[in-house]
Amino acid sequence: MNTINSLSLKGRKLLAVFAHPDDESFICGGTLAKYAAEGAEVTVVSATRGEMGRRMGNPPYLNRETIAAAREVELRQACNHLGVHELKFLDIRDKTVEFIDEEQLIGRIEAMMHEIQPDVVLTFHEKLGGHPDHCAIGKATTAAFRRYGQGALYFVSFGDMMQQPGKYGYTPDAIVQVDVQEHLKAKLAAFRAHRCQSELMEWVWQRDDRALRNLGRYEYFIRGNESQTGKDSLF
Ligand SMILES: [Zn+2]
Repeated sequence: MNTINSLSLKGRKLLAVFAHPDDESFICGGTLAKYAAEGAEVTVVSATRGEMGRRMGNPPYLNRETIAAAREVELRQACNHLGVHELKFLDIRDKTVEFIDEEQLIGRIEAMMHEIQPDVVLTFHEKLGGHPDHCAIGKATTAAFRRYGQGALYFVSFGDMMQQPGKYGYTPDAIVQVDVQEHLKAKLAAFRAHRCQSELMEWVWQRDDRALRNLGRYEYFIRGNESQTGKDSLF
């Protein structure tokens, strides 16, 4: 069966809540592209516009005044490559997610969940997020999800780290492995759309066939609740 064209997920919804433009593409772009291609309505939320990022292009062509708008444009282009249906910003200043009023943030995300009614929510693990903004948006989204109380919650992970879940205190049952092989071209296009961030990654700009070899076939997710899904699917 050609799952790409089957639109088997028509009417289903996925909400991904992240901190910065590029989180969605670099970490789980293959999964977003896969489910969008299968018919799911994918919404990406970026808490910030990444305006405090250290990478300003190579050679640098952005500054602190221009970077927010540039990264927003890049994120919109990346979302187009991935087939994302809608993009929202929380308009939080980059590198300050952990310092804003948490209760208010949880309330905003919960309201979004009631509006969108997602079947699947993706966000960062509050301890394994790897960056204070990631952990903070993951913690708030997890709290919002618990209040919302419907659907399935998953935490993203980086690269192949969850091939060995025991290192992080998880059993293999807690991990979902999504095969994104058919969607790596879309993921690579999304990497390239985030030009000011990916220009310093030489492999991204190699010939397509070479560049694609740097992207893993699987993306891994940690179950955030007791949802009944298989080992290879978030839905
Ligand atoms: Zn980030």
